[in-house]
Amino acid sequence: MKKKAGVLAVIFLVLVAAAAGVIAIGKNTGRQSDEKKIVASFYPVYVIAENLCDGIDGVSVSNMTPNQTGCLHDYQMTTEDMKKLEDADIFVLNGGGMETFVEKVVSEMPGLTLLYTDEGVDMLESDEEEGEYNAHAWLEPSRYKKQAENMAKGLADADPANKEKYFENLDKYTAKIDEVAKEYESFFAGKENRRNTIIFHEAFEYLSLFAPVDVLAAVEVEGDNSALSAGELAEVVDTVNSQNIDFIIVEEQYRLSIADRIAEETGADVLVLDSLVTGDGSKDAWINGMKDNLDKLKKYF
Ligand SMILES: [Zn+2]
Repeated sequence: MKKKAGVLAVIFLVLVAAAAGVIAIGKNTGRQSDEKKIVASFYPVYVIAENLCDGIDGVSVSNMTPNQTGCLHDYQMTTEDMKKLEDADIFVLNGGGMETFVEKVVSEMPGLTLLYTDEGVDMLESDEEEGEYNAHAWLEPSRYKKQAENMAKGLADADPANKEKYFENLDKYTAKIDEVAKEYESFFAGKENRRNTIIFHEAFEYLSLFAPVDVLAAVEVEGDNSALSAGELAEVVDTVNSQNIDFIIVEEQYRLSIADRIAEETGADVLVLDSLVTGDGSKDAWINGMKDNLDKLKKYF
């Protein structure tokens, strides 16, 4: 009898161990579903989110749109985008009218926290659409910093368990942004002779706020070389010739042959800058892009 009891005890222990195993697996699965999934609408806010969530366990960041998508003007959501959002806890957005498609999302996903980063960000007025904003505020360091602060606050509210870590990361990131701003400031200090330019994406209008560059015209042909009529082209050429334009700014993202044609006809330089709206997705993409832009601008001052 004693021996039998011993065998039973062993079987019992095995069962307990197995049950413990099951519980452990269950716990593990539970932890995964506790994970905070943060999805960004597009590249500039994605890069901020990467920095603010860096190294925080249980927090994942992804970009709803591919890193090469660019601005979301006239963007239509895909079923793949919807799937990513269905799985998300927090959706971070630029605001300022960049994500007009979002109303549809709100109505279909009441459980999703929307985190706009444009509160208190002083946006320029749009040249293209009267009464609308130029939403590309990430190109000016102090406005970009404000967006990062707004995002950190929103993340801390939505995920209070990691509040301190979001703010720690914010401090690290804003220190880097400040450093970039200082590099521009010290280079342009005392250079009062402003340069004239024509830009090919209204994003670059923000440059005139922290560099001695005056934007005399903004030509919007984003992503489409044929969008400029012969009459419009003649008008731009005329502006360049009559207004003493130092350089034409086009972006890395959309190398427009139309800009090259204007340069050929007028003799103006074409300056290719990064609008920081696409890239390799690295955490330091904004920092490095801004530094590269400064290096390219230096030639003209
Ligand atoms: Zn744009």
